[in-house]
Amino acid sequence: MFSGKQSLSDRLVIMGEPIAQGFAVGRILHFQDILTRESTKRDLNAGQVEGELSRLKKAIDKAHIDLGDLKSKVTYEIDAKHAAIFSAHQLILKDIELFNDIENGLRQKLLNVEQIVQEVFGCWERKVRCADTEDFHERANDVIDVGKRLLKALAGDVKEFNMTDLLTDGVIFAKILLPSDTASLNIKNIKAIVTIEGTQNSHSAILARALDIPFVSKIDGDISAFPHGTRVIVDGKIGTIIINPWETEIETYTRLIQRRLTERRKVVRRACDVLLEINAKRIKVAANVSSCNDIKMAKIYGADAIGLYRTGPLYMDSPNLPTEAYLFDHLTRSLELVRDQDINLRLLDMGGDKRLPFLGAVECVNPALGLNGIRLLLKYPHLLEVQLRVFLRLSATFKVKISVPMVTLPKDMIDVRRYLLKEKEKLIREKIPFNEGIQMGAMIETPSALMLFDELLELSDFFNIGTNDMVQYVMAAGREDIDVVDYYKAGNPIILKALKEVIRKSEERGKEISICGELAGNLDFTKALLDIGLRNFSVQPAFIPYVKNKIFGFLKDSKVHG
Ligand code: PEP
Ligand code: MG
Repeated sequence: MFSGKQSLSDRLVIMGEPIAQGFAVGRILHFQDILTRESTKRDLNAGQVEGELSRLKKAIDKAHIDLGDLKSKVTYEIDAKHAAIFSAHQLILKDIELFNDIENGLRQKLLNVEQIVQEVFGCWERKVRCADTEDFHERANDVIDVGKRLLKALAGDVKEFNMTDLLTDGVIFAKILLPSDTASLNIKNIKAIVTIEGTQNSHSAILARALDIPFVSKIDGDISAFPHGTRVIVDGKIGTIIINPWETEIETYTRLIQRRLTERRKVVRRACDVLLEINAKRIKVAANVSSCNDIKMAKIYGADAIGLYRTGPLYMDSPNLPTEAYLFDHLTRSLELVRDQDINLRLLDMGGDKRLPFLGAVECVNPALGLNGIRLLLKYPHLLEVQLRVFLRLSATFKVKISVPMVTLPKDMIDVRRYLLKEKEKLIREKIPFNEGIQMGAMIETPSALMLFDELLELSDFFNIGTNDMVQYVMAAGREDIDVVDYYKAGNPIILKALKEVIRKSEERGKEISICGELAGNLDFTKALLDIGLRNFSVQPAFIPYVKNKIFGFLKDSKVHG
């Protein structure tokens, strides 16, 4: 651990938990979001204050108008209850006390307005958090949200300043990396991620593995003291960080990186050529994707299909509710790359830990047990109708099927099918083409779906098992909670037993069943999964060659009990 006695230029080794494999040699980039990051400080002279105040007024007006647009849209598309949060944000923005605080700060400190806005919002947030009221936490988050919006408006609506554009060999150092944070990173330039908090199953861990970026978490030490640009080595295999490494170490790791790249190319080439079969039944290794870029990777790595298309990012990256045209255009552009393949589009899986920016803060007593997946869509049917319509329209051109997330009761499937029928009827009336026989399947992610599987068999054309969620609900252990990782073990015998049962039943009925949770890409369990009858794997694109080669190895040695 960095003790303060050492110099910041001394070599230092820090241990952590390996989350995503691989090695990196790069430079530290401390990650902070727009509200807390150090922004460019400019000194003003007294004559420049009015100019800064006028920038502030314009930014407040701009942010106010944006919030108004958001409010009308959400009122129309969802309901007035969810739109109310934006009225509250407008009130904070136009609070005269807030304006006075910023103006006073400007006059006293003679610094650019961004600096003062950061300070004043930080101070307001602290005040609200200290207030002894029941809803203080929620209100502090509202203050943060408004502060971010104002800073973005001050930045002239340019895309949020992207720190990762600064270095081409950046190693992100952060306390925690949330899914919304990763959206603002220029992934191309990131060599590795290092965090203090984060688990194997967190969304950022999944993202890192998908992008083949080494990731070490739970590190034992204070990393904030090291300046941006400090040389660093990350070993995602054993979970070590070497700060200010020796030249010889840099040379060794550079060689390791090269060797890994060469091996990877070989593995990919081999995997793309191999055909996997057990008793004349094809074993498929499909890709989990959530963007056009993922689909490109899926092609490179030889995916047999798109086993899970997570549509959440299309919504999370958009400040407003995405329209039918927006969704259709974006998805069409992505799917063009896999015209000849089966594509499993998942209906929006939001709620819980995955929030929609335009829904504001949905109050939820227990996020993991609240309005998640299909429940949210059935509660706000407009969201569901638009997606079903888009997916149906896509089915005229692409081989798409529809997956329903977080099914708990057969009624969920019955209800969603009713909406599907209604959308089909509308398209027929409008003479818009679609595939009449489009398949719809339930995701098996809850204990209830496991227990009611016989009934779901009647209502689903196929199944995807989402082990990431299934494990958290079966084991009552949060997927992102470090304290309960010992309970959250995807490959434990209870889970495998449950999986075996549903795979058998589904196969007997001739209905395709796949696993698309992280377990499917865990090479330690490939053999166990084959043994319980799994024939359809859906994994991060970068894992496809490894899973295929592993399966190939078992088949060659006739080790699978098919
Ligand atoms: C799962 O739960 O296993 C799954 C694939 O869904 P997600 O990880 O997107 O919740
Ligand atoms: Mg899930």
